[in-house]
Amino acid sequence: MTAVYPGSFDPTTLGHLDIITRASAFADKLVVAVLNNSAKSALFTAEERVAHVKEVTSGIKNVSVESFEGLLVDFVKKQGAHCVIRGLRAVTDFEYEFQMALTNRSMKTDLETLFIPTSTQYLYLSSNIVREIARFGGNIDNMVPPQIKKYVIEKYK
Ligand code: ADP
Repeated sequence: MTAVYPGSFDPTTLGHLDIITRASAFADKLVVAVLNNSAKSALFTAEERVAHVKEVTSGIKNVSVESFEGLLVDFVKKQGAHCVIRGLRAVTDFEYEFQMALTNRSMKTDLETLFIPTSTQYLYLSSNIVREIARFGGNIDNMVPPQIKKYVIEKYK
């Protein structure tokens, strides 16, 4: 089974890496899909974000990384996949994720969204939180892989 794990990954966090590791353990092939949204200003370019995910997942054989624009369902079709992976943190994720899952399925009826609950230590971890803390020089050691920490600090210099 090929699964697609979409997100912004701006930057990649340990929460993302946890979901990737767990999903790649049951999917035959996991495609991490980095959203290139021209309407949203990101800290890192899509190319940088793809390179970052590639770097931190280089040890996982069945993971590949690509960027996509436009509708997720179109990207999923192009991959010949029928499964989307999403991580779930606190209840606040639920409403949005449920809406997206149902909407995507209405556009592609053979699509299933699988939710993986966060590991407890990453419950309150988001890319947004990482950016906020890093912007003010706070410690992000427990939030991102060491390579990513370097890139984030470099960006805010
Ligand atoms: P963020 O919300 O951190 O900006 P993305 O938009 O890149 O992250 O999210 C991509 C996917 O990863 C979403 O399904 C999101 O719920 C999931 N995710 C992000 N952070 C975590 C985490 N700490 N634990 C579990 N899932 C997460």
